[in-house]
Amino acid sequence: MKRLAGPVVVLALGLGLVGCGAETTQVRPDPLERLLATSESMIVRANGPDTWEVVVCRVPRGATDPLYAEFDDRMERDADEIVALLRPVSDYYERWSGGRYELRFVPAANEVSILSTESSQQCVDRALDRSSPTADGVVVVADAQHDRSAEGGRGGPGSPCVDDCSAKTTGRYVYVGASDFMSVWGSEPPLDLIEHELGHGLDWPHSSLDAESLDGVVYDSPYDLMSNSAAAREADETLRHGPGILAVNLLAAGWLNRTESWWLGDGTRVVEVGARSDHASSNPRLVSLSIDESRFYSIELVSASGDDAFHESDFVLIHRVEITPGSGFDRRQFLVSDELRAGDAWTQNGVAVRVLTMGDGRARIEISEAA
Ligand SMILES: [Zn+2]
Repeated sequence: MKRLAGPVVVLALGLGLVGCGAETTQVRPDPLERLLATSESMIVRANGPDTWEVVVCRVPRGATDPLYAEFDDRMERDADEIVALLRPVSDYYERWSGGRYELRFVPAANEVSILSTESSQQCVDRALDRSSPTADGVVVVADAQHDRSAEGGRGGPGSPCVDDCSAKTTGRYVYVGASDFMSVWGSEPPLDLIEHELGHGLDWPHSSLDAESLDGVVYDSPYDLMSNSAAAREADETLRHGPGILAVNLLAAGWLNRTESWWLGDGTRVVEVGARSDHASSNPRLVSLSIDESRFYSIELVSASGDDAFHESDFVLIHRVEITPGSGFDRRQFLVSDELRAGDAWTQNGVAVRVLTMGDGRARIEISEAA
């Protein structure tokens, strides 16, 4: 991965001139470097083939796990049929990774089942236990629908691995209820939920429209697959995919070629950013303003096209990102700006970000000290 070090290098050179041969050079630790370091094992999984075994879990009528609705009807599809329905999910990730991530779904040899007194987690445990050594993760689809008030699904990256990264060893899984795979949807079911859970499989965290929502476990952002994944479908019921992926998550997956990184207080800069979805762009697709070694503002351009076409027009967004030790899932990410278009400005923490011009999938932005 190639990344411009920006003013971090300038600062180091500047300090190096002070004193007579004394070792005074100090490079401030860049939070983007830290994020990449904590994402190392996931970057390996997110670049190249990633094979997920699809397992159907049969749930008896009268199951006592409160996750399940008290409906008698059950999903009739088998793993082969679900694998066929998931093909556009691979395409979604192909688009957003710029062809780096090859998400493959294969049907498991056998189904699993639980007793009426057992929980959904037993579906997962059995699927993992019986998974083949070549499966990097298991997608477990229960044949029972979840209660409306319950979560649609869940997923995670499993434990870190070096040599044996099979799902059986790491426990990497995605689990969803039957709702999106009921035959009522025909051959085009909603795919945003499973796309979201697979994002957790890459250790991506949730985001929200503000810090309060994030703390309140309200995932309300239409700008992020890992927040309101149904945002596109809510705007147009014929749409099937989640919205786009936050630039910080693209970075954590190793899917960004180029970023720019500055510190608050570094003076005035003007930079042209490319759309977060545009892998062909020669411009940076993430500009960060570092607050300290674990916190930064992430600036990105959302193009109202492709999976983000349900938005009215292009705009710039600013999120605050707080890296936590260990897991990506615990990273805090929340929106701090409005949708910023040409002429709009945002100010916080002594810094001002102004959108100078916007068009052709690019935006020129000026970063300066707030007046
Ligand atoms: Zn989630």
